[in-house]
Amino acid sequence: MAKSPSTSKIRNIGIIAHIDAGKTTITERILYYTGRSHKMGEVHDGEALMDWMPDEQERGITITSAVTTCHWKGAEIHIIDTPGHVDFTIEVERSLRVLDGAIGVFCAVGGVQPQSETVWHQADKYHVPKIAFVNKLDRAGADFFGTVQMIRDRLGAKPLIMQIPVGTEEFFQGVIDLRSMQQMIWDEETLGATFRETPIQDKDLKEMALRYREQLVESVAEGDDKIMEAYLSEEPVTAEMLTASIRKATVGLKLVPVFCGAALKNRGIQPLIDGLVDFLPSPLDVPPVEGVDPNTGEVKKVPPSDRAPLAALVFKVMMDQGRRLNYVRIYSGKIKSGDEVFNPTKQTKEKVARILAMHANKRERIDEAGIGNIVGIVGLKISGTGDTLCDPSNPIVLEPIDAYEPVISVAVEPKTHADQEKIELSLSKLEAEDPTFHVRHDEDTGQVIISGMGELHLEILVSRLKREFNTQVNVGKPNVVYKETIERAAQGVAVFEKEIGGVHHFAEVALELSPRERGKGNWFVKSVGEELIPPEFYPAIEQGVLESLESGVLLGYPVVDVAVALVGGTYRESASSALAFKVAAAMACKEGLQNGKALLLEPIMGVEILVPEAFMGDVIGDINARGGKIEDLRRRGEMQIVKATVPLSRVFGYSTALRSASQGRGTFTMHFSHYDRVVEAPKVL
Ligand code: GDP
Repeated sequence: MAKSPSTSKIRNIGIIAHIDAGKTTITERILYYTGRSHKMGEVHDGEALMDWMPDEQERGITITSAVTTCHWKGAEIHIIDTPGHVDFTIEVERSLRVLDGAIGVFCAVGGVQPQSETVWHQADKYHVPKIAFVNKLDRAGADFFGTVQMIRDRLGAKPLIMQIPVGTEEFFQGVIDLRSMQQMIWDEETLGATFRETPIQDKDLKEMALRYREQLVESVAEGDDKIMEAYLSEEPVTAEMLTASIRKATVGLKLVPVFCGAALKNRGIQPLIDGLVDFLPSPLDVPPVEGVDPNTGEVKKVPPSDRAPLAALVFKVMMDQGRRLNYVRIYSGKIKSGDEVFNPTKQTKEKVARILAMHANKRERIDEAGIGNIVGIVGLKISGTGDTLCDPSNPIVLEPIDAYEPVISVAVEPKTHADQEKIELSLSKLEAEDPTFHVRHDEDTGQVIISGMGELHLEILVSRLKREFNTQVNVGKPNVVYKETIERAAQGVAVFEKEIGGVHHFAEVALELSPRERGKGNWFVKSVGEELIPPEFYPAIEQGVLESLESGVLLGYPVVDVAVALVGGTYRESASSALAFKVAAAMACKEGLQNGKALLLEPIMGVEILVPEAFMGDVIGDINARGGKIEDLRRRGEMQIVKATVPLSRVFGYSTALRSASQGRGTFTMHFSHYDRVVEAPKVL
């Protein structure tokens, strides 16, 4: 059984990249050189280790955030897979929550592309230290220094060039390490497992390397007095001094060390692994996470100590060979197999049946896992994504992961009788894995409606139904998930008076409804004297209000961003009941929504389009015709970046439209931005 290394040797990292930058190839090479896999499969052979879901192989994108563990020179590296597609923002955010550092991968030809920019900024939001890898230096048009400049300009980062390439494009052979001033040239025969490390041969290259080393030392000296002193007094600055200082600056988010290579040609990977171990933080180097004591509401810091009570976060649930597998990061304490852990959100104890170290192609049973570790747990029946696991006698709730609202829905119908039988179970399994995926039965039509974050998200889930669960469905037209709100403040008053089973029920409720800022959610407040309505009825009133807000007065969509205040009412000692108050509250709320001029809201998507200049006019014209707003136009070389917001209802099938408007040269990313007043009322209903 593998012995856990000390926490300072653990690296929890993610790789962030635009699709096709080479994330899968790099991950797979890392696993190969760290000795975990013995076969190197190219991505285009569909054999990469991380992308083991059939869908991912087909589409060439990585969807799940499975974790893979490997070892390198005494360090234990957990690679948390972050998806490149922004349709899966929640997947990105939840992986960012549990990792301590990231490698940004950029294509030396494409430079900083829109999706890597989005994810990079998300990582900044979570204060994740980063290093960068400029990949594909072997490709025609590769430009290492141009890409570094883009990292500076577009990401607002301070790149620190750690290596320079030896040769470029078809002549790219290896790199010069500016810390050691050694040249590394990779051997073809060993698939890059071995390389020659020699002093720099070429005179021009040596000059160039000296120039860049000088730049490196200067940049590091700016933030480090000891190095500044050595530099000014012309004493030698050793590789060790640089490593220690760069580590501090990287962990402190001041510098981004930049490495380079060509993953497909097996060049540059080992120094990248060295770099991630040298510069990215261990779980002890990042600020302790915070949680809330569910009993007292007190905010507590979670000490990163094995001896402290357990605090762990479930960041992903997957169905695995018919069982639930929970991916968990431990922040404090230990988990042993057989332990009983407490889930304070679900108010339940759960049994840890097995703990698994997850490798790409196999898993290893371990007896216990300590802080900083990321493991799979089998045996948890109820715990879901975002839940905390803790010590029953020391409950704590770690900050849950934000859940995103689904914005698009489609009806699915089983194709055959056999599919009919499987559909419910299959969908509920997918729903358990993915908190942004919802399933419901439409009582009026008898249809099953699935909803999610975007067209691609639902397409992938439908194709997983077919592949993994052998369930075939017909899919209807996509529909937008609308919301309702009110335009102005209004009152709603209702009386409920009825004989039910010989008992007289009475209640009167007066509510004041007012609009809240977009995205603030609903809010219920009691501002009524106890002499009017006794407090024991408040919960029933609140429940009546909340239930009434679940379906608005216009088209029955959920009501959002409304503040509801209980301002008055009447109570009769002999006849008032909780039931009467609940019903009266729901009726008063409906009346308030009518009086407040109910309003329909629709999801607005943020779209970022990259097109050659020549097609920009057509693309902008098309966005305008769809009721979109252009937010920003930027030039990048030959390409234009168009940022716009467009109602989701108007961008169904946008990929086809863009393809024809740009002769196939345009690409785009799309993600949910916000809800706003409907421009064009939906035709249905
Ligand atoms: P991902 O979408 O970021 O995971 O990217 P992949 O690893 O799937 O790579 C996308 C494509 O680029 C694949 O066809 C790879 O074979 C290719 N690729 C990856 N790294 C390199 C490289 O260093 N040089 C070249 N020429 N192609 C590469």
